[in-house]
Amino acid sequence: VRGLTKRYPSGSGKWGASQYVHAVNDVSFRIYPGETLGLVGESGCGKSTTGDMLANLIAPSAGEIVYDGRSIHNHASKSAKQLRKEIGVVFQDPYSSLNPRHRIGSILQEPLRIHREGSAEERLRAARDMLELVGLDESYAARYPNELSGGQRQRIGIARALMLKPRFIVADEPVSALDVSVQAQIVNLLQDMQKRFSLTTLFVSHDMNVVQLISDRIAVMYLGRVVEIAPAAELFRQPQHPYTQALLSAIPADMPSQKRERIVLEGEVPSPIHPPSGCTFHTRCRHATSACKEQAPVLREAGEGRLVSCILT
Ligand code: SF4
Ligand code: MG
Repeated sequence: VRGLTKRYPSGSGKWGASQYVHAVNDVSFRIYPGETLGLVGESGCGKSTTGDMLANLIAPSAGEIVYDGRSIHNHASKSAKQLRKEIGVVFQDPYSSLNPRHRIGSILQEPLRIHREGSAEERLRAARDMLELVGLDESYAARYPNELSGGQRQRIGIARALMLKPRFIVADEPVSALDVSVQAQIVNLLQDMQKRFSLTTLFVSHDMNVVQLISDRIAVMYLGRVVEIAPAAELFRQPQHPYTQALLSAIPADMPSQKRERIVLEGEVPSPIHPPSGCTFHTRCRHATSACKEQAPVLREAGEGRLVSCILT
């Protein structure tokens, strides 16, 4: 992902000039084959918009996403169709993402029908097999979404994302609409499926505990920018960016020895229509100096496999 940017027009400001919401601003990172990259940050930081662009659901305003050597938004229609098969999406809300008027069997076969895969009999077989794989049984094929619990529906959401045997999946808050008691089961299911299908995953979430469970590496976003990327264990052991430090300080530690000083962020997240100058975190950073208002730090290497965007590191 190189220089990825998404701006939305947002009416007009003073004197009728067009205004833009800078949802994602010059974001660059890599996802390696087979890994799970967690993408975290508070709501409105641009993580879902980034996920939507990687899932090919919306187009970037600028920048590039190269998947397996092919640019996602700049391709001939034949490879576009192939790309849509290779990239699966698991949505946040298992209540609204399944059509209530369709039976589960039909919902699961839909991607196969759209891509004209297999005969009717093969599609039915594939849907039944997938139901077994996600821990349900073929009797569910005849049921409607409203007959299922939230956890069961998200099993269907995952099953549907896997019907075309994708190699890469984008999962945007796949467990945050679920009861805490079922979240771990769904994370386990995702991990089983990752192994079985050798999936590469972008896992978008605001929940640091869930992200820690599933991610190999974690990218932290603030106000449309990535401020830190690190292997998951390293990030939790020693967060380097002041924003990451604040985010992690809010998580209760398992053991008293891990207890961190609680860093409370003052003030609101600034508006993405008028992001602050220099380092966009300077309005809330307790280490900010006058230089931070002027100079925008860039993401640069800060130790083995780590990147941080702060003038102090
Ligand atoms: Fe804080 Fe300055 Fe670093 Fe930004 S660049 S995170 S304001 S110390
Ligand atoms: Mg979101």
